[in-house]
Amino acid sequence: MLRLVNRRILLNILSDKQPISRAEIAKISGLNKATISTITGELLKDSCIIEDGLGRTTPIGGKPPTPLRLNSRRFGLFGVDIRADETILALSDFNNRLVARVSFETGANPGVFLTKIGKEITRLRSKHDSFIEFPGIGVSLPGLVDNRSGKFLLSVVLPWRDVPVVQLLEKATGLLVIIDNSARCSALAEIWHGKAQYAHVRDLLYVSVSTGLACGVVIDGGLYRGGNNTAGQFGHIAIDLNGPECRCGQRGCWDIYASDKATIKRYQTMRGGAAKRAPTMRKLMEFVESGDPAAIEAVRETARYLGIGITGLINGLDPEVVVIGGEITKGWGLIEPIIVEETRRSLLAPRSHGVAIRRSAFEVRPSLKGALTLIQNNLLSMPHMG
Ligand SMILES: [Zn+2]
Repeated sequence: MLRLVNRRILLNILSDKQPISRAEIAKISGLNKATISTITGELLKDSCIIEDGLGRTTPIGGKPPTPLRLNSRRFGLFGVDIRADETILALSDFNNRLVARVSFETGANPGVFLTKIGKEITRLRSKHDSFIEFPGIGVSLPGLVDNRSGKFLLSVVLPWRDVPVVQLLEKATGLLVIIDNSARCSALAEIWHGKAQYAHVRDLLYVSVSTGLACGVVIDGGLYRGGNNTAGQFGHIAIDLNGPECRCGQRGCWDIYASDKATIKRYQTMRGGAAKRAPTMRKLMEFVESGDPAAIEAVRETARYLGIGITGLINGLDPEVVVIGGEITKGWGLIEPIIVEETRRSLLAPRSHGVAIRRSAFEVRPSLKGALTLIQNNLLSMPHMG
């Protein structure tokens, strides 16, 4: 794990600051020169990074440091972000630049739908044939995912059940497929590509606020997946035993009070007859922006519930950073003070004052970034890439 973390730190710095010399990487990362020399040696051998040959000369005529940069053509990475309504397929180069992006309406029949996605991937492969290698497809899914069996188990937002996603997509494309749940994918994207300081963070809690509410937990630099591989469903902790029934079978789950569905419902109730048709969360955040009092109050109330749940998770997990993602974070100036105030109510608060509460580094689709990161993470875990 240490090796993976160090490689990730190094690639993060390279991606941010390239071209950059080994000495500068050492200064920024705090890693020692021997470690950097070993890792860059491995990455050079695998053609993942290249020496920017014609380095600048130094004014005193000494040997100039050879700058390094990522070899963007080394890998073409596929990411598929499946949501209840819309699916996005993307192809990224090894320098984290999107080369292609295609969106689809998510199909009700998973077999037919995944075959269609597979065909599109095959088409993109032949169109972008200058990549040295296509190491695989990362897939983010909105619900319970068992990435050991390769199956999407179930979801309260998408009516697919026990779908062998890995098997279907591998058959359709001939490429390696890795799947995970969207909140866990987003957590992975944060430590990989979030603000540069996250590269050093080893314990992070990601709270995904979407149609549902789910979390991704990074412990000691790696994703926590749990005994049955389904960890992170904190949205289904009951916070009110007398609350309304939840789709999961319990009553009064956190999800019912703090998901986008909850915010939209609250807004509709406040507007009474004026809002019979439910707005999308994107639309609702536009209402907030334009000063609609009902939208502002609905979002403020959700922020309180987010704060209550997050306080419990901070007390239980003691993360260094809590990252919140989703449309609601567009109103960060409105929700952040409320969430922070809630976390300070706890008697254990003096300890949680040190926890940084941030919004996701990715305003659009953190889970798509996460799907692409699944493949990068897998590549870097191997002794030799590709
Ligand atoms: Zn529930």
